[in-house]
Amino acid sequence: MGDKISDLIKTWQKRNICGIYCADIKEASAMILEMVSVSGSVGISGSQTLEQLGIVRMLEERGTKVFNPYEPGITREESLALRRKGAVEADYYLASANGVSETGELVFFSAFGNRIAGISYAPKVIIVCGINKIVPTLDEAIKRGREYATPLNCKRLNWNTPCFKDGVCHKDICLFPEYKRMCCQVLAIEAEPAPDRLKVIVVGEKLGF
Ligand code: SF4
Repeated sequence: MGDKISDLIKTWQKRNICGIYCADIKEASAMILEMVSVSGSVGISGSQTLEQLGIVRMLEERGTKVFNPYEPGITREESLALRRKGAVEADYYLASANGVSETGELVFFSAFGNRIAGISYAPKVIIVCGINKIVPTLDEAIKRGREYATPLNCKRLNWNTPCFKDGVCHKDICLFPEYKRMCCQVLAIEAEPAPDRLKVIVVGEKLGF
């Protein structure tokens, strides 16, 4: 672990955010399996990072209930219901950040708001983030989420947005009904009032967008 991550973890301590360093995705997955009780329930947000870890399958295979809105073959209504349950009923919520500042803020963009609800209010939250998500300031973390991560997610998920076409954010024209805007809401966490609720696993690899 380098000085930058060590300093970030110390910065989080003063904000009641528990930072944990894992060298790679294998270590990060093992850490999550240890943190989540087998009999607990888990809500998730769409995340390339979580997919790379393969953590949903690992949790399900050992018998943990996952409210998975991305389960193949389910209807849109079923998916929306699982998003709602995951955000408001689950014991744990798993997500990745769009940007993390060296000054300690965590930034998340959302379309439907379920991930913002889950991250803000679930009893226990685990955020996984690769080292590529860390930038110097809050402004840069927001810029990263909007101008880098969201266009790539629009491309990945085939969303009709201006950034889908050219990879550049045009938020002034990204409005309904012409477009289906993806980044409708933004959450920046500066601190956490409840000790032990919010944990961030920093993985020493590049993960997700
Ligand atoms: S506001 Fe629209 S164009 Fe800009 S990043 Fe978000 S989805 Fe893309």
